[in-house]
Amino acid sequence: MMLAINSVVVLATVVAMEGFAWLVHRYIMHGPIGWGWHKSHHEHTDGLFEVNDLYAVVFTVLAGVLLTFGIAGVWPLRQVGIGLMIYGILYFIVHDGLVHQRWPFNYMPRSGYLRRLVRAHQLHHAVHGRDGAVSFGFLYAPNIDHLKALLKRNRSALSRRQRQDRSGALKA
Ligand SMILES: [Zn+2]
Ligand SMILES: [Zn+2]
Repeated sequence: MMLAINSVVVLATVVAMEGFAWLVHRYIMHGPIGWGWHKSHHEHTDGLFEVNDLYAVVFTVLAGVLLTFGIAGVWPLRQVGIGLMIYGILYFIVHDGLVHQRWPFNYMPRSGYLRRLVRAHQLHHAVHGRDGAVSFGFLYAPNIDHLKALLKRNRSALSRRQRQDRSGALKA
């Protein structure tokens, strides 16, 4: 019975992490606090690592802390830590491997859900600045046409704002 409950906790953590990662990506990484690190991922960078990889380091440390308390007997922190680690591995395979080909993945899906996942994240990178981006998830991808429509809307809102800023600056 305990094994079943623990497995559910691990699984629920993986699912919840996608939601949490979406929030962190949308409001921290693309927000005033976290853009400093995340910016490197939206620009072309030479070399093996990006400053953005520090986020993965933070999550790995967090998983380590949870596992340590969990192994010391605090239930269910071990299971939550394992869920976090599984999410990290999936992120590494899907985001770093499949989408960005940072290590020789040599597989590009032509159709199906994985194709949609790759397209959705490519649309996230269609925006190079902090504002106006779409698709903040890493394992769940919404409908591509919906994302494209959203991107178009964000872009026109952004250029409208820039125009307003410019005319405001001229008046001032
Ligand atoms: Zn981003
Ligand atoms: Zn990316």
